[in-house]
Amino acid sequence: MASQLAHPAYGMARSVTEHAAVIVARNPGPMTLEGTNTWLLGAPGQHGRILVDPGPMDEQHAEAIIAAAGTIELILITHRHHDHTAGIDLLAERTGAPVRARLPEHCRDAAPLGEGEELRAGGLELTVLPAPGHTADSIMLAVADAAVPALLTGDTILGRGTTVLDATDGDLGDYLETLGSIIDRHSGHLVLPGHGPELPDAATAASDYRAHRLHRLDEVRDALRVLGEGASARDIVERVYAAVDRSLWGAAESSVLAQLDYLRDRA
Ligand SMILES: [Zn+2]
Repeated sequence: MASQLAHPAYGMARSVTEHAAVIVARNPGPMTLEGTNTWLLGAPGQHGRILVDPGPMDEQHAEAIIAAAGTIELILITHRHHDHTAGIDLLAERTGAPVRARLPEHCRDAAPLGEGEELRAGGLELTVLPAPGHTADSIMLAVADAAVPALLTGDTILGRGTTVLDATDGDLGDYLETLGSIIDRHSGHLVLPGHGPELPDAATAASDYRAHRLHRLDEVRDALRVLGEGASARDIVERVYAAVDRSLWGAAESSVLAQLDYLRDRA
């Protein structure tokens, strides 16, 4: 039974479906919304759970996870960012569960995740879907055999607002392709995001995100026309993101850099 608690319900596991519960870490901020979501997945009646994203290094968060989970069989990582991965060793040590991620440096006692790999744990079957864009190593996890099909999106789709593409290995072309694949393949899937509340339909969310990105891209093209091709990312942010809170301008600048790369690659 899904509970009536509202996101973020700090300190406890909030049931979202029969197969999924979320525990929100107390690391709120402009980039993390209310905090990082740690997901616990498992079929009803099964004792074992899959943990997705340990979250930050936080003793209280680890204790809440362990108290809620029973036995954790497997720990999975959606992408390399610190707010999802810093708690890996704490959780791996406390639970003895193997940790699997796309990048070997996040794995513990297990191999990196393969593209399209099918995982079985907690009485569930999950498919690993590469989702580059937010970062190069981002993945999503599809839970297909549940009564409510679900897509764990990491930071590819958040529960509200939009996501930021990482300045080092984020890529707008990859991101738009990832959103396209969600629109094509995950209509009717509940979104279980890395931050923020769940969303009812992955394809709808992805198409809103895509429209937002294409709109921003048009604005950046317009800004370049006015400011000249040599305009800096900061100049563009000050023009295009004038209405956005200044605390988000650093993040906006990294998104604009990704957009400039995208436009230059296609010039
Ligand atoms: Zn991230």
